[in-house]
Amino acid sequence: MRKPRMPVPASVRRVPREHPVVDRERPVRRRAGRRPRPPAILVEQVAKTYEIGPISVRALRGVSLQIDRGDFVAIMGSSGSGKSTLMNILGCLDVPSAGRYEIDGIDVRDLDEDDLSDLRNGKIGFVFQSYNLVARTTALANVELPLAYAGVDRAARRSRAVQALTSVGMAERLHHQPSELSGGQQQRVAVARALVTNPTMILADEPTGNLDSRSTEDVLRIFARLNSEGRTIVLITHEPDVAEQARRVITLADGRIVEDRGLAGVHEHPPPLGERPVSPHLLRRVAR
Ligand code: ADP
Ligand code: MG
Repeated sequence: MRKPRMPVPASVRRVPREHPVVDRERPVRRRAGRRPRPPAILVEQVAKTYEIGPISVRALRGVSLQIDRGDFVAIMGSSGSGKSTLMNILGCLDVPSAGRYEIDGIDVRDLDEDDLSDLRNGKIGFVFQSYNLVARTTALANVELPLAYAGVDRAARRSRAVQALTSVGMAERLHHQPSELSGGQQQRVAVARALVTNPTMILADEPTGNLDSRSTEDVLRIFARLNSEGRTIVLITHEPDVAEQARRVITLADGRIVEDRGLAGVHEHPPPLGERPVSPHLLRRVAR
């Protein structure tokens, strides 16, 4: 609805000006006083050398890259090219020998062990090729584990773990132990464990390396959905068809980035998994 026009008093009537009142030369700052948000990941000239006795292995030799929030990046490269070394640094599981790494604008060199582990627990969800689930422990308890470390109370832990497992299509396997699950199911439990803390970033090192094509597709669909929710995904793989699911593919060779290409426009998200919200009935059933 338009406001009725007020008559403009003669004293404030517009007069032509020689210069605009607003200085158009200066860029407009929409959110005064706020700096633009830093990228999710900023890596500058990162090197990593492993010293094994008299031998130095140069696993990374000056890697620089920036990953924006909400991006979906695949890192490719043959075995030994430095992918896992890079992921360990991105995930603050290891520190570079040289160079700078900032996560969400925080320089990790400024952090001690406690800060680093807080950062990892709060921001990052990890998924590994070998699932890394705790043996002889139910799917539910495995997924609750990171919440227990974070001090979340028992009831909230349970309901969040059930929700995470439901979101990866594992609602019917809550009380199964890893040995009673297929590889694809174990990996889905591992993905639920990675996302139960609601991280902003998922780092996955060859998550589909041990999976058949059906389970690979399940896991990739889950990643695509997590990405569409705004999470940053960094997925390491040596399978080209898996890398094609990302929006950007970075290729490493011999500890250096040799290619960095966008797949925008080519990429289409696979359809989401047909999962439902957790029913109160299911929650009651598992709240023992
Ligand atoms: P990728 O994941 O691409 O297969 P990695 O990052 O695991 O490669 O390894 C890169 C190089 O660093 C390889 O030559 C590997 O042998 C070496 N390397 C990796 N981790 C260690 C380690 N903890 N100690 C010594 N050398 C290592
Ligand atoms: Mg590796």
